[in-house]
Amino acid sequence: MNEQTIALVTGGNRGIGRAVVAGLADRGMTVVLGSRDRSRGVDAAAELGVESVELDVTSDDSIAAAAKELDERFGRLDVLVNNAGISGGFAAQPPGAVDLVAYREVFATNVFGVIAVTDALLPLLRRSAAPRVVNVSSGLASMARMSDPDGGLAALPPFAAYAPSKSAVNSLTVQYAKALRAEGVLVNAADPGACDTDFTRDIPGITRTADEGAAIIVKLATLPPDGPTGGYFNDSGPVPW
Ligand code: NDP
Repeated sequence: MNEQTIALVTGGNRGIGRAVVAGLADRGMTVVLGSRDRSRGVDAAAELGVESVELDVTSDDSIAAAAKELDERFGRLDVLVNNAGISGGFAAQPPGAVDLVAYREVFATNVFGVIAVTDALLPLLRRSAAPRVVNVSSGLASMARMSDPDGGLAALPPFAAYAPSKSAVNSLTVQYAKALRAEGVLVNAADPGACDTDFTRDIPGITRTADEGAAIIVKLATLPPDGPTGGYFNDSGPVPW
């Protein structure tokens, strides 16, 4: 069997997602670049020589339409990268003065978006011989590192909305991995490390590139059948929860 591997990357039109699209295309996959804005997606896909689909992870209608389109065009999905995410404005998140509107928006995108997209695409993933789901998490998701004075993250300011949203993504990853293990669906969370993208434009001193951040995501998207599931990884290996 020498079937093309079909991959979807949400929020693939810029930043780390775009680098993941390029990395998976380099490995010979048929990559569908998901973008909430159709024309931004079409433009980015043309630049990278890949396919595109309109997909807003906070819209049930958009998700349903994208799942239908992927079903009609490809009939299955082998790799799903849940990359789309928002910060909610890091500066607006001190506990005690949290902007709840922004908080809900962060969870709607980063958490409920992952659930809704994954559930809508599970029927297509179940038709794959080697299904893989990668949830793009963050080092800030690690409660162990956040709370350990020697963990390297304790000195960071509090991120009351973003960090819990990514901890929830980690927790979801474990639950989905457990539920889907018997079906051979490998579900893992990736910590790409702080990368220089629009996302971090207000945070000085970040030099890691989106390509460097994409590497662990690409690795988890191309795991062998006996690869791990239900894990949380960065370039160096497992990250403490
Ligand atoms: P960017 O802000 O550069 O890109 C975010 C992408 O997500 C864009 O394509 C954006 O689309 C898309 N997006 C946002 N909301 C939605 C939505 N509702 N539906 C569909 N797409 C959406 O961020 P990064 O590339 O830096 O981040 C990508 C992922 O990596 C995020 O999940 C982030 O939390 C995570 N991450 C990033 C780190 C970093 O240092 N950069 C570190 C750790 C994790 P549009 O162009 O339309 O806005």
